[in-house]
Amino acid sequence: MAGRHSAAVAFWPHGVHGEGEVPGELANRCTGAVGGLEIGELGAPPPEQPGEVRFRALSEGTRRFPNHDRVETGPGLAVVLDGAFTPIECGHTTSRYVSDLAPAAARHASDRDVSLAEAVALGIGEAAAEHRERCGDNPLSSPRSTVAIARANSDAGKLEAYTLADAAVMVLLADGTVDTLQDLRVERYSPWNPSAQRLAELRSDWAAGWVGSEPALRFPEGNWSGSPEDRRQFDQELKGFAEALAERRLPPGLAGFDRQVQTFLGWMKDQREATLRAVNNPDVEGGGFFVAAAKPQDAYQGLQREYPLGEVQAVAVMSDRGRELVTLMADARGELPYGMGRRPPYTDAHVMRLLGEGGVNYFRNALRRAEHSDPDGMRYPRGAPFADFTVAFADLRPSRRRSGKLA
Ligand SMILES: [Zn+2]
Repeated sequence: MAGRHSAAVAFWPHGVHGEGEVPGELANRCTGAVGGLEIGELGAPPPEQPGEVRFRALSEGTRRFPNHDRVETGPGLAVVLDGAFTPIECGHTTSRYVSDLAPAAARHASDRDVSLAEAVALGIGEAAAEHRERCGDNPLSSPRSTVAIARANSDAGKLEAYTLADAAVMVLLADGTVDTLQDLRVERYSPWNPSAQRLAELRSDWAAGWVGSEPALRFPEGNWSGSPEDRRQFDQELKGFAEALAERRLPPGLAGFDRQVQTFLGWMKDQREATLRAVNNPDVEGGGFFVAAAKPQDAYQGLQREYPLGEVQAVAVMSDRGRELVTLMADARGELPYGMGRRPPYTDAHVMRLLGEGGVNYFRNALRRAEHSDPDGMRYPRGAPFADFTVAFADLRPSRRRSGKLA
């Protein structure tokens, strides 16, 4: 099929196995794994000047997760946005918001006299102007996005990093350590981990209750953590399941199981609402978390860090799924190419090594393999089993500036 073929070609666009070559076994496994992936957009390479820090970038969605990320690169600058996968009823879509905000923030950030937080604030001011005026500035009814930026400032001799919510900047330093700037306040409010755990317990109680006999009903297997539409559908299935249980005779060990399922549904709803209450809201317990939305001043809630430029060997800017590879690798092991996942510990240094040795396409391949090794997201609970993903990477080591790979 043409679509499958192009997905496989896109999977190894260059270099990793030799130009244009896709080994048969790997091609089959990966075509099966990612059939339907959109082809990644490669950032247009800017003209290169001697000594310039140059980013290579990749951004893509998946069949179930349209791409709400955006990447903008320029000389010594990379801006990555990861838009929230939330329906916005006024028609000012997340996709439009990130398409406007990324270039606006990049344009302001290209002026080295403007701080990165200020560049993001100015960008939000422009990208959300129409929505703010017509529809208001409530973050829950506004398009939202995480932001991460890396900027080389040669005159000041520093690399500047900025993050608002969980998009990450990772910096490989001269001593071999990797420093990661990522604002993980959002994780305190994430409903995914506790929900996945409770759901797994319910499933296993259900299976165990039918000692020696076939369960009379199938426990719903829908996508409980995917898109809003997936979640609605899963909630419906689970509700229907509980209602059907209430009308049946169950084994003694499962008495009251329908009420447990109903309780879980109510609890999951509370979790999701607690997450929403914490968006750009410092008044909730724990201080909330912050993303780019309609108000420019939220940009100043981002985290910033600086590094002496001479100490920086490489820098990567990525949406959260990229850094999740560290955790995914621990689960994927044998699934990763070239044994990269077989040597624990799994650290940010592995992520930078994958990027440094293979480039952004190679990194994406490793990530998709790792996702596929846990396709339902049960072993490693995450927002979506296959997510949109964006990375920009620059290698500052003099011998590698041209290729971005090992010689
Ligand atoms: Zn609007």
